[in-house]
Amino acid sequence: MSKPKETLNPFEIARTQIDRVGKKLNLDGGMLEVLKNPRRELTVHFPVKMDDGKVKVFTGYRVQYNDAIGPFKGGIRYHWNVSLDEVRALACWMTWKCAVMGIPYGGAKGGVICNPKEMSKNELEHMTRRYASEIAIIIGPEKDIPAPDVYTDGQTMAWIMDTISMSKGFAVPGVVTGKPLVIGGSLGRDEATSRGLMYAVREAAKKVKLTLKGATIAVQGFGNVGMHFARLMHDEQGSKIIAVSDSKGGIVSEKGFDPKEVQVFKEKTGSVVGFPGTKPVSNEEILELDVDILAPCALEGVLTSENAPRVKAKIIGEGANGPTTPEADDIFHKRGIVLIPDILANGGGVTVSYFEWVQNLSEFFWTKADVDQKLEGVMVGAFNRVWEMRESKKVDMRQGAYMVAINRVVEAYKWRGIFP
Ligand code: NAD
Repeated sequence: MSKPKETLNPFEIARTQIDRVGKKLNLDGGMLEVLKNPRRELTVHFPVKMDDGKVKVFTGYRVQYNDAIGPFKGGIRYHWNVSLDEVRALACWMTWKCAVMGIPYGGAKGGVICNPKEMSKNELEHMTRRYASEIAIIIGPEKDIPAPDVYTDGQTMAWIMDTISMSKGFAVPGVVTGKPLVIGGSLGRDEATSRGLMYAVREAAKKVKLTLKGATIAVQGFGNVGMHFARLMHDEQGSKIIAVSDSKGGIVSEKGFDPKEVQVFKEKTGSVVGFPGTKPVSNEEILELDVDILAPCALEGVLTSENAPRVKAKIIGEGANGPTTPEADDIFHKRGIVLIPDILANGGGVTVSYFEWVQNLSEFFWTKADVDQKLEGVMVGAFNRVWEMRESKKVDMRQGAYMVAINRVVEAYKWRGIFP
């Protein structure tokens, strides 16, 4: 595959997206600068004693992008490619995501450069606890509330919650979301991002008159988001999942398959590759399959000016953060493909994180039906606000979503003023 000509630096992309919308909203230059810069960035280098007795120094970040609307909120990623610019971009997108969903948070993100696949559980626990104690000075239920992201999960959140609670001397469940149920997690949080994505895709399908029953779907990234999305579309909408992939490669079958069986297979073998009755497909090819719906649910920068002309899906639902470059956005818009942008499409995760935090603070827990029903209300409301903006301003969905989000953050600044 030839290389795209545009930048794949996620923070440059995030800033281009703000510039594009800033111009359309006639934003004042000073305000534009405020929106294009993170408020606070913490870099930490910390030692961890590994299983072989040797000490290894890890580097981690926590970027608090913007808190005009409310406390900072955003996940923590463990990955060998984590960089400050990636964390900045993800923190920036969290700001717009919370604003577009209409929940009272600002945006943040964290990350540690590491290879969790090569670390033992013991090493992961020590690294997590030390990282948590390093960033403890800036996180807390009323300040900044982390959550899981790529290669972190409920166990990671439990260790962070415990580390912070130990230093306070009492349990502080509201410091993180995405926790296991028994220590204050919310019902429905595991699948919330994917359930939200399902609602967003359902609303988009209504607009383009696509029947979801029998519609074909390809999912890149069969992790937390991709796996639950495939399962929900299969079980609740009757759609046909014909391809999924993970970091080792992908599988395709025209007949379709049950994602729950693929999940069981992946748990046993470590990958979706080799699932009986399917053919192999690469992570590049999966994006260009002839399907009705494409859901990139892995990492950023996978849909570019290079492959966008060959994408065949009618609807793209961005389960992942930042999978599409601005140049690819323009191509999809011209080709009439409806792309549901990340800040809207995967906003169900942070929405149920917000519900979890509300339950923690009020010490009153909701049923799964309560959670799902409230999530549906928030998703459909946000989708409609973005769709109306798209129609009235004649822009694509991403710009419509950014307009809704940036208008809210700018309004917050107008009320709060610039101190002093
Ligand atoms: P995860 O770690 O559970 O899953 C990631 C999946 O992507 C894994 O199956 C992995 O094998 C696969 N993968 C890794 N590298 C790949 C590559 N190069 N090509 C194809 N597949 C690859 O992570 P997740 O929580 O599902 O997050 C996935 C994306 O969704 C990320 O962009 C994340 O920021 C975004 N997201 C997650 C949540 C959430 O609630 N977990 C919420 C909003 C957005």
